[in-house]
Amino acid sequence: MKAVRLESVGNLFLCEVEKPVPGPGELLVRIEVCGICGTDRHLFLGEFPSKPPVTLGHEFSGFVEAVGPETPGFSVGMRVTGDPNIVCGRCVQCQRGRINLCENLRAIGIHRDGGFADYVVLPIRQAIELPVDLEPGHGAFCEPLACCLHGVDMAEIKAGSSVVVLGGGVIGLLVVQLARLAGATSVVLVTRHEGKRQLAETLGATASIDPNARDPIEAITARDGLLPGGADVVIECAGVAETVRQSTLMARSGGTVVVLGVMPRGEKVEIEPFDILFRELKILGSFINPFTQRRAADLIASGVIKVEPLISRRIGLKEAPEAISHPPRPGEIKVLVVPCLPS
Ligand code: NAP
Ligand code: ZN
Repeated sequence: MKAVRLESVGNLFLCEVEKPVPGPGELLVRIEVCGICGTDRHLFLGEFPSKPPVTLGHEFSGFVEAVGPETPGFSVGMRVTGDPNIVCGRCVQCQRGRINLCENLRAIGIHRDGGFADYVVLPIRQAIELPVDLEPGHGAFCEPLACCLHGVDMAEIKAGSSVVVLGGGVIGLLVVQLARLAGATSVVLVTRHEGKRQLAETLGATASIDPNARDPIEAITARDGLLPGGADVVIECAGVAETVRQSTLMARSGGTVVVLGVMPRGEKVEIEPFDILFRELKILGSFINPFTQRRAADLIASGVIKVEPLISRRIGLKEAPEAISHPPRPGEIKVLVVPCLPS
């Protein structure tokens, strides 16, 4: 079978490898689709630790082609998505239910072979069933949506809340939709690309701001701004220093800031502790998808969360190394790798 393998940092190739055989408690899944995520590029560049040689790809769905022994409840032909994050279940964090903070966290597509391939081996504990009639490609959004759900859960958005979302990539555009679904009446997206702002407004954003055209803090918090005094909730989805800095300044007193965007390790942002204290701000980090992937799958299967407009293009495995190792094209949101596409 074919697989896109990270042989070492900076070396990503389409290779011919043995088709894997599922062991006890494992499924052999024929990959239907696997999304390219910024983390894949970080892995390629060595900015995020991995265990090469390894097949990348952690946002996948597909059909069960074979089942190993001890796989109750699973059968050939079922459609599944994978929760890539494998926890140990034994450490202090797991025992406290904080599984995303597992001390022995491992991930499919990072530490063991993932979904940029014809097949992946998926432990049944990581498998989530999807309807067989789901639109092709939509299953790849379960993992990113599950990460967004965790962040939106942490934000405790209530009916009538006001929300600012910083960054209009796939994460920001999913968070905009989840914020509306959670009951927010105002959802303002801040992002530079006009096409993404327009799309956000069709997906539920009540307003959008181009941070290059005007100061977004002023545009939101000023007396005559979109949310005078600031937002109840600010969700940072860009992962850049400037937006992290802006996020606390856009929150109203007593408000909540959730950092979903990943900034490069070691990079710093200036924040005024007096402001956090005096205005009683809550600043929370949200990491991956603890117990949220089933809900994400249901939200996608029901069509309540719209993912089709987020798909920029579909490519075959042959084009994947090039697409993974380069920054996204301007305006591009999500690129899907579809192994069955002729390349
Ligand atoms: P992305 O496409 O890179 O999205 C970030 C967007 O932020 C860009 O598309 C860009 O759009 C916008 N942006 C950049 N600078 C900005 C600025 N100064 N002001 C406003 N917007 C700005 O990536 P993504 O896939 O959506 O992911 C977003 C972040 O979430 C990444 O850091 C990713 O690593 C992280 N993430 C976290 C988790 C988690 O578990 N916490 C899970 C998945 C991903 P414009 O060009 O339109 O400005
Ligand atoms: Zn653990």
